[in-house]
Formats: sequence, C-alpha cells, structure tokens
Amino acid sequence: MHKRVLALDIGGTKLAAGVVAEDGRVCSFLQRRSLAERGPDDMLDRLFALGHEALAAAGSGGLHAVGIGCGGPLDTERGLVQGPPNLPGWDEIAVAERAEQAYGVPARLENDGVAAAIGEYRHGAGRGARSMVYLTVSTGVGGGAILDGRLMRGRSGNGGEIGHMVVVHDGRPCPCGSRGCIEAYCSGTSIAARARELLDDGADSALARVATLTAADVSRAAADGDPMAAALWDDTTEILGTGVASLSNLFEADVLVLGGGVTRSDDQLLLPVRERVDELAFEFAGERCRVVLSELGEQVGVIGAAAAAFDTFGR
Ligand SMILES: [Zn+2]
Repeated sequence: MHKRVLALDIGGTKLAAGVVAEDGRVCSFLQRRSLAERGPDDMLDRLFALGHEALAAAGSGGLHAVGIGCGGPLDTERGLVQGPPNLPGWDEIAVAERAEQAYGVPARLENDGVAAAIGEYRHGAGRGARSMVYLTVSTGVGGGAILDGRLMRGRSGNGGEIGHMVVVHDGRPCPCGSRGCIEAYCSGTSIAARARELLDDGADSALARVATLTAADVSRAAADGDPMAAALWDDTTEILGTGVASLSNLFEADVLVLGGGVTRSDDQLLLPVRERVDELAFEFAGERCRVVLSELGEQVGVIGAAAAAFDTFGR
C-alpha cells in the first residue's frame, strides 16, 4: 500500500485539493473558486472542507501528511504565508499549523512554483532530467529550478520568483512593486490588462465587444487573425521567450517546462517561445535547452505539493 498525502493548492483564482500517492498517482482531485476577496479565514475554512471532501472521495487509507502550495513570499520553515500580491490580507498567516490542527498530521508549506517544479521533475515533463526549470504562466508568473538534482530553495524557500525577473528595463509596473517583470507582461492578468489598455487607447479590435476580457480571449482572437490581438500575442510570446532564453543561458538546464493556464493555448505559445530561444540562447555542448509544456496540467499544483511533503516527512 502506497503512503498518501493530502495536497492543497492555494491560488488567487482557484483552490484545489487532492489525495496523492507516493508514486505521484492522484486518487482524488477537486477544485473550487478562491473568492480571495473574502480574506484568509474564510478561504482556509473552505479549503480545509475541500480537503476533507478530497479525502472522502479517495476512499479508505491512512494519511501520512499534508502538503500545501501557495504563492510567495512565504516562510517555508515556519509555515507562514507573508502577504502574496494576489492574496489580500494574508499577512503572517500560519497555514501549516492550521492544516496540522485540521487534519492531525504534519503539514509542509511550499512556494507553489517550487512545488510544481518538484512535481514535474519527479512525475512529469522533467523526469530523467538532471537540471530543469519550471515556469508557470497563470494568474501570475512563478516557477522553480532543480539544478544538478537539487532544488534551488534560496535562504527562506523563496528562490523561485522567476516571474519577477526583469525583462524590460523601466517597463510596465508589476503587482510586486517593481517594473518590467515577466509577470507584468505575460501573466493572464497582464495580457488581459494590456488588451484593455490598447482598446481604451482606441485600438480597433473584435475584442472591444468582449465585456470581461481574459488572456484566452486574446489568444483566440489572435488565432482568428485579429491584428491588435495578434500583435499583443506576438509581443507577449517574444517577452516570455526572452526570459526563457535568459534562464536557459543562466542554468544550462536540460529542459524548461512551461505550465499554467496561459499555456493552454498550446503551440500558439510554445512555438514562438521556442523560436525566440533558438534565436537568443547559447548552445551548450551542441544542444539548446529543450522547451516543453507541462505534462501534469491542472494537477501539477497538488502533485507538486504532495511531492514536497513526501520530501519533508519521508516516503
Ligand atoms: Zn514583479
């Protein structure tokens, strides 16, 4: 019988809970809207209830630990969430301790990008690689790196804020307070905001008829040949590709994995990013870093948080 972990994923848009076995198999998986505007207490109550539902759906079997993924900044050793830009009111929230009280087993809090990186490395597109970088392009942009088989953690577990790597000097303001970060251009939120700004400036586009614009609307319109959407999409993939090329030069990884909601546009995102990497990145020993899409899809968060818990509390 494999040991099982309850994995919880706290996002600005979605909450997820799943029971995951030691070998990465997902026994149950549930998602709900975050309703982040209601604040941490309400969200944690609903998250823990979702966790109990996931345990019931997975059937009988013991629970080894809880793994929790959440956007940074956070203190992984003390299990504290410390005010991520997408979670208003989450200042010094003791998420791991509260989870331990809710389920009666030890809990591990991990940066969600770092957790997803562990998940892809163990059970997804990074299997067999020595060095892998994971980049999630979603409501925000995050990631993590495993270099020479070791997780790059940083001093307090926040060493994967790839989304806040600056790619445009003095560029667009970013939710983190800096300017020109990858996230300020390529997150789903930023793609939609940039489209809205272009429309407000009088750009002519079919998107003017969409009430609540999303990044998916922009990619669809770009694929349909809408000139404004196509130009915006090209700019987005060029900036993302520039960041990916820099990461490739920096780490000499075997593979760079792209995940998150924006990558559902598939080849429309992947191919131009690869093109940019081919243009800008070094070849090391006759090869460039491979750029591929996540294999774990929407379950990457829970598979990764579970893998982080297994790493911490043993297998
Ligand atoms: Zn930033």
